[in-house]
Amino acid sequence: MNIENKQKFKVAYFQSANEFWKFITQNDEWYLEHLPQDFEDLKSNSKSLIPLIIETTNELRYNLKFKQSDYWRIIQWDNIAFEMKMDDKLKQFCSNCKKEIGLVQRFPRLICHECKNELKSSDERNVEFFNSEALGYGCQGYYSGTNQTEKYNSNESYIGNKTFIAEEGRFGGILIELKE
Ligand SMILES: [Zn+2]
Repeated sequence: MNIENKQKFKVAYFQSANEFWKFITQNDEWYLEHLPQDFEDLKSNSKSLIPLIIETTNELRYNLKFKQSDYWRIIQWDNIAFEMKMDDKLKQFCSNCKKEIGLVQRFPRLICHECKNELKSSDERNVEFFNSEALGYGCQGYYSGTNQTEKYNSNESYIGNKTFIAEEGRFGGILIELKE
């Protein structure tokens, strides 16, 4: 099949949803080559495709090899599952320990609650992050166990050789994400 002709591609050209999906995902970075809107009959085949899409994007989220700037392309595929209300098997995993956590669509690199307690400063002390203002704005780090009196003036913290970034959540709270 010639990639130049992908505008004309149809799921119906393939013997099955499986065959179609195998073709689409043959390269590791397949999501850079294909978007759902490139296929005119994708929606009418979505029931059989969605389990395959979900399995594939779950694996991408488990391995976290994609660039954050490309994640919107993967979300386009997930959105088919949302549109069909078949999104309950979409998964996300802690970017440190790989435990399953709830899907947060724009933030695939979050860590779980337990791993938050493992965050350390560069001098190996435990640190924690809180909103710095009322109403859930801002982000300030503190050394743990100091009752938020000893400030840690960095948004970066570490678990082993992994670096994590703390930032204020859009709706309050703090998000901790693995740095790319
Ligand atoms: Zn974890």
